[in-house]
Amino acid sequence: MGHDKRESLPELERLDRSGPDAISSSQEKALRRHIVRLTADFPLHAKLLADIDTADLTLSAISALPTMDKAFLERHADELAPPTEDVVEIAYSSGTTGAALKIPFTDVALKRLEWNEFRALTICGLSAKDTVALTCTMDRCFIAGLAYQMGCRAVGAATIRVGAAPIPSHWKIIRETRPTAIIGVPSFLAKLAESAEGENPADIGVSRLICIGEPLRDADLQPLPLTRKIEKLWNAKAFSTYASTEICSAFCECEAQAGGHLLPELAIVEILDDNSAPLPPGAPGEITITPLGDGAAPLLRFKTGDVSFIVEEPCACGRTTPRLGPILGRKKQLLKHKGTAFYPNAIHAALSALDGVIEHQVAVRRNNLSDNVSVLVALDTGITQEHVEEKLRAALRVGVNVQTLPIDEIRRRVFPNNSRKPIRFVELD
Ligand SMILES: [Zn+2]
Repeated sequence: MGHDKRESLPELERLDRSGPDAISSSQEKALRRHIVRLTADFPLHAKLLADIDTADLTLSAISALPTMDKAFLERHADELAPPTEDVVEIAYSSGTTGAALKIPFTDVALKRLEWNEFRALTICGLSAKDTVALTCTMDRCFIAGLAYQMGCRAVGAATIRVGAAPIPSHWKIIRETRPTAIIGVPSFLAKLAESAEGENPADIGVSRLICIGEPLRDADLQPLPLTRKIEKLWNAKAFSTYASTEICSAFCECEAQAGGHLLPELAIVEILDDNSAPLPPGAPGEITITPLGDGAAPLLRFKTGDVSFIVEEPCACGRTTPRLGPILGRKKQLLKHKGTAFYPNAIHAALSALDGVIEHQVAVRRNNLSDNVSVLVALDTGITQEHVEEKLRAALRVGVNVQTLPIDEIRRRVFPNNSRKPIRFVELD
């Protein structure tokens, strides 16, 4: 990648990491400002951080600060809410207790989210020349659809808010508007391409698939079978983007398609082990995020529950910022089956490599010694249950119980109440 290209990138994306570490020194200042703001605005934080000397705080000392999680946000929702007159948007995210968690946004927080999406979408190459179809839910109090729309608009791209529409409506609009990029869930983008009647998706002119909700790569950053499939169907490149409602942050892959570039001015990202101790680059652990900047939710070391790792090696695109690897799984979904530990994502990836598996769901019954894992599948006539069992045994290095069900039965379980996001993992009581 030439020098000129690096010149055109924002300063923070091309800082040297050798010598006095410029990225961390700017983050250190931002962290101090963040803590000053938290302790000034929130008595709860002032109490939690009473013993911390902010003036001398170094970036590496962040591991001594307290962590927070979703349960903390639920417990202290009232204390953490901004004043009513400042709230301009109320979003909901799924809570830990079954009840949805209310997340109020101020105008400043929304503008910060827009800036974050602008930065992330620019990294994956979107520009004012693009026309972007948004196939993610734009309503029902989800913040994600709104965030992508704001980000695309900030980039100058035209957005098409198709939202959660039936597939024929998607195709009517795609045919008429010829989008150059689509934002959506990878398994849905596969289904959409496969349901294109009288149209070859590869001929539409889509060059980018910006993928949310499901991982695109394995632990070696190689594309998963589903990734290869959608890239082929659409004749486009697939880029992963990671975000969640609470963290007010998003990281998107660049043209090198090898992990989402971190945005050092917007968030400090740590990977923690089971004891909340920091892990080195490459080691998988819980993604923990401190969103920086005025207006973000008052979070400090927020544990997301998602498991991934940091990639420190320089990127082929020329940016010097570290990257976040693919989501290997949800921390609490780790399965311990007959002495082997794996995430349901490993099952999803193995099955997406098999052509005849139309739909599937992983169901687990938790036990102290060994979880009881069942994989429910709907199969085409060209594939047998034994073949699926064999492939899963090879991928997981342990056998799991496979059960074949009619396609309608599985679809009812995977898309309850016509949910857009497939539910491919359930825990049975
Ligand atoms: Zn890159």
